[in-house]
Amino acid sequence: MTSFPTPRELMPPDSCGEGLAMAPARAAEWELALAIDGSGTGVWDRNVQTGQMSYSSAWMRMLGYADVDATNHIDDSYTRVDPDDLAMVQARIAEHFDGRSAMYEAQHRIRCQDGGYKWVVSRGKVVSRDADGLALRMTGITYDISTQMALAEQLRHSAELLTNLTDDMPGMVYQYLERSDGSACFPHASAGIHAIYELRPEQVRDSAAGVDALIHPDDLERYRAALAASAAALGRWQCEYRVVLAGQGLRWRQGDAQPRRCPDGGTLWHGFISDITDRKAIERQLQELATMDYLTGLPNRRHFMLRMEEQLARLGRGSETCAAVLMIDLDHFKDVNDQYGHATGDLVLKHFADVLRLALRKVDAVGRIGGEEFTVILPGASTLDAQAFGLRLQARLLRSPLVDGARRIAVQVSIGLAAMRAGEGGVDAALVRADAALYRAKERGRNRVEIAPD
Ligand code: GH3
Ligand code: MG
Ligand code: MG
Repeated sequence: MTSFPTPRELMPPDSCGEGLAMAPARAAEWELALAIDGSGTGVWDRNVQTGQMSYSSAWMRMLGYADVDATNHIDDSYTRVDPDDLAMVQARIAEHFDGRSAMYEAQHRIRCQDGGYKWVVSRGKVVSRDADGLALRMTGITYDISTQMALAEQLRHSAELLTNLTDDMPGMVYQYLERSDGSACFPHASAGIHAIYELRPEQVRDSAAGVDALIHPDDLERYRAALAASAAALGRWQCEYRVVLAGQGLRWRQGDAQPRRCPDGGTLWHGFISDITDRKAIERQLQELATMDYLTGLPNRRHFMLRMEEQLARLGRGSETCAAVLMIDLDHFKDVNDQYGHATGDLVLKHFADVLRLALRKVDAVGRIGGEEFTVILPGASTLDAQAFGLRLQARLLRSPLVDGARRIAVQVSIGLAAMRAGEGGVDAALVRADAALYRAKERGRNRVEIAPD
């Protein structure tokens, strides 16, 4: 076994058998080797011609070899290199011998005395060549990187765990970066991006343009404004928006992310995007249930009253100069029920609601506020305009009785209407006046339109 000298062996230099002339250089070399050895880094020396290897005591300690049991030929060294790494190690050495690399370096596994393997880094350099450039001697170091490798493995495992966890979540976990130049990208997106945006993470890694293109045009401005506000105040970003996807069509998404400022002035959000399409559909159904009359599909009394309040507010602000409200009551409806039954009575109510709906403009509001009582707001209409509307509605009804099998059931209505007034205390006042006018219409023979006096 040839090993590096111990301090006891170091001096005198001539004991190396190389003569006094070589002594100072060899001594300096040994001293350096010793210093490196003391730091726990293994040092080795290879005679390329003979294949003889010398190892420092730190090299031996690192791998658990006693001075006596590490064999000293390069062929023995190669048997200690993990078979999976050997070809790479030999190729790197050959590259360096041939002068294709300035230094030999390899990260590889090496067998210890106990039969286990350690990860090491080996670095070496040819320190003398013959006249033809053939390598004669190479020295180098080897140090243990098992701890770093184990840490790296742990990190990789943690990252893998995180990826697996987030990839299996129903939604998209992501990082969103707005750079200081205003451009944006998703440095990280979990596999959920496929379900959320029908994209792959690498498609948005450098630019977020692919996502922006999917956001519903009516929601894009709101989406961007919410991000800008979040970046400015470093406050949580929460946004519900629609996306239009090639596969899934129109879907609702909800974003929730926390921003932080980057050293270069950019903003980085960490967050989560989820699919809220089903929730939105349920919300819409609940909204309809809360605001719609189930029989006719018209807004119910509660919802109509809100529209009255909105209309009064518009008149109060002066953004509209006038509006009229109509109360419409089916004439002799009790007789319809009595004569044809309640189910047919329901059909008559539905039929009337359909005819009424067709008579309305988009801006008008309507409601079923009682059994066979309906109300309409006509924004911008004078009482005369409203009277004309009422008469047209009656004419329409006359033209379109309910056809129920062989039966044709005529529907007639009485209408009372009133102007809505800006300064009026509440929404009830105009309705009370319209109701009084309706009462007069009934009194005066039904199938009439009466206007409440100003
Ligand atoms: P008038 O011309 O004075 O308005 O007479 P009318 O018979 O229409 O008035 P009345 O208020 O006496 O009767 C209203 C009837 O409407 C009584 C009620 O049974 C019926 N009604 C209320 N809601 C419904 C409903 O949802 N379906 C049916 N089929 N009938 C209803
Ligand atoms: Mg009634
Ligand atoms: Mg009635």
